[in-house]
Amino acid sequence: MPEPMHKRAASITPEAASCLFLISAPSGSGKSTLVGELFRLVPGLEFSISYTTRPSRGSEEHGREYFFISREEFKRMLADGDFLEYAEVFGNYYGTAWSFLEDARRRGADLVLDIDVQGAAQVRQRHAGTVSIFIAPPDRDTLAWRLRNRGLDTPEVIEHRLRDASREIAAYNEYQYVLINDELPRSVERLQAIVLVERARRRGWPKVLQESRMPAAERFRLERLAEECLQFRVAERLAPVLHSFGIATVRV
Ligand code: 5GP
Repeated sequence: MPEPMHKRAASITPEAASCLFLISAPSGSGKSTLVGELFRLVPGLEFSISYTTRPSRGSEEHGREYFFISREEFKRMLADGDFLEYAEVFGNYYGTAWSFLEDARRRGADLVLDIDVQGAAQVRQRHAGTVSIFIAPPDRDTLAWRLRNRGLDTPEVIEHRLRDASREIAAYNEYQYVLINDELPRSVERLQAIVLVERARRRGWPKVLQESRMPAAERFRLERLAEECLQFRVAERLAPVLHSFGIATVRV
């Protein structure tokens, strides 16, 4: 596919934009559950509904999980410069429309993008001031078990997903935060802390503390939790995860 024209790129400045959270994870890492919990707990977040050429699955609805469109429609939107980013994942195209970003900004809402590592790299390049979070499974065996257990895929597809997972996990160092999803309540708490801390930094802590009547101790608890997930702080805990996927780590 041709590179799209980014006709709207100049109109979005980082100062004017709302917080943009990029969340990526290999299939089966528990991202959907985590993101669902995040939306339940944190008000003022909007989910960017992507366009995709993949057929809908199960109870998915057009306009709720995705906008399901044909390859022709996707190509037309791409040529019209409608996408902030797009990527081919598992043989289907997925793209985030500029309009979602613009609408969220107009409403003063923060936007969450659940996109793959290729898409996240494009957004980071085109949009300064994003917050990127990578969700990693605890290890390869656990991921394989989760994929088998959810019963959605054949053994061949599972093998394919595991290979893709290794490729995606190798891109962890492009993300600001890394969350190892070993225990759901702890991961939810950490993800919530990252979002609240980044948002408060953008808006200014004094204003946030006053408006939310958050005690100072809570601010420090959230900051500590978020800090523990900064990529460089996670390195040691992540090493065995990378090892289980056969990804070499460089000791510094
Ligand atoms: P699924 O088809 O299982 O819902 O998603 C497959 C993958 O596509 C996931 O890794 C998901 O994060 C990614 N994805 C969903 N929407 C987009 C999008 O708009 N852009 C990109 N680059 N990836 C997306």
